Amino acid sequence: MELDDLLKKFHEYSTQDTTVLEYAWNYSKEAHSDQKRASGEIYFVHCVAVADILVDYKMDQETIAAGLLHDVLEDTKITHDTFRKEFGEEIYELVAGVTKIETLKFSSRDEAQAENWRKMILATAKDIRVIVIKLADRLHNMRTLKFLTREKQLEIGHETISLYAPLAQRLGIFQLKSELEDLSFKFLFPDEYQSLLAKVQLRYVMREKLLENFKTGLEKHLAGTQVPCRVLSRAKNLYSIYRKMLRQEKPFEEIQDALGVRIITDSVINCYALLGTVHSVFKPVAGSFTDYIAVPKMNLYQSLHTSVMADSGEVIEIQIRTEDMHRTSEYGIAAHWRYKMGEKGADKHLDEKLNWLRQWMEWLQDLSSPREFIESFKTDLELDQIFIFTPKGDVKSLPVDATPLDFAYTIHTDIGNSCIGAKVNNKMVRIDHALKSGDMCEIITRKNSAPKKDWLTTVKTAGARSHIRKYLREHGQLQD
Ligand code: MN
Repeated sequence: MELDDLLKKFHEYSTQDTTVLEYAWNYSKEAHSDQKRASGEIYFVHCVAVADILVDYKMDQETIAAGLLHDVLEDTKITHDTFRKEFGEEIYELVAGVTKIETLKFSSRDEAQAENWRKMILATAKDIRVIVIKLADRLHNMRTLKFLTREKQLEIGHETISLYAPLAQRLGIFQLKSELEDLSFKFLFPDEYQSLLAKVQLRYVMREKLLENFKTGLEKHLAGTQVPCRVLSRAKNLYSIYRKMLRQEKPFEEIQDALGVRIITDSVINCYALLGTVHSVFKPVAGSFTDYIAVPKMNLYQSLHTSVMADSGEVIEIQIRTEDMHRTSEYGIAAHWRYKMGEKGADKHLDEKLNWLRQWMEWLQDLSSPREFIESFKTDLELDQIFIFTPKGDVKSLPVDATPLDFAYTIHTDIGNSCIGAKVNNKMVRIDHALKSGDMCEIITRKNSAPKKDWLTTVKTAGARSHIRKYLREHGQLQD
């Protein structure tokens, strides 16, 4: 892809001036000029691929420029100061945000840890666009994973399926989520993947005819209504079928993989009109109708869902939605971003809908395990949390302004009791230092060192305070 191709694709949906984008293209090409990827291609190819994915998601110029530049701070000699001067605060913040996530090394295989990581990535990113860039970066890395060693493939595949695919899902970017999942699946379980792929393709060939017949009949009826619309077949997500097999403990042959089509139209009123047409022509399956237009899902998903009986006797799932809803369901909140930037077609309720942080937190709670939910419930507002790394790469959540001493007590009571200092990001700090999200904290202990009375005012968490009290009381330094 050349610069002109990228600009042409961008101008299909945006009238934004592209001076900065063009500059970013040349700047990134130059900065990475002496680097190569594992595939043997020049490194810049990766930067362009990431920008191309971002254009697919119709992102704004700043995001695409940041996509081109996303590895400049991490992988070249260009300093933060130079970069900020060249591209200004907005693009700098985007790239710095991606770089920050890049430096995190996720190693744990524990689901509760993965949950903390996802929360932390969301909380530290600040700007939703940072995560969209990171997801585009990961998607391209997954698409080119075959060039890496088996060990790397497993590591990156695992990280993708436990961190990035769920993040994409939470942001409602389902297309990206499905591709990330299927690529991870392919590398993590190559045999299962290949065998399932063959079976799905076989079933698809057999049933394609049936679906085509249904589609043709449906289109004829819909054409009679004079309502503008198009009918689409649905793509397969191999990994979700695989998960269903595991969950139901059934072989592929016994998995009900419903045939389905989507009807896309121009307005909400026409969604209901077309639903009426569908139900008047095909017999609906009792209890199958759900109205996600009147009552959208938490992630903004909207559609009418129904299942009908085809003339052949097969059950066919039908989703009816507007073009806007379709874009939201495929691209999630990424689809809304440019409207927020004040381009035409702005949704006046959008700011309200896009109160990102609050909504994320709702989704997080929505999907957390009960234990996680109770924990987050205890800490009042999720927004008051910070996320701190242990030197091993585990994440602990603490209240804002928590100190290394609080952190020490979350690791172990003995570590807290014998704490004499701490290193934050490899620098010595006092035990009353205020920690910040993303800090890596290492506790320094000394045998026979003991809690002091003034620690009670140093710590911010009730847990640490009660451990200190207990120790002081047991050693006669504190009366009740
Ligand atoms: Mn990259």
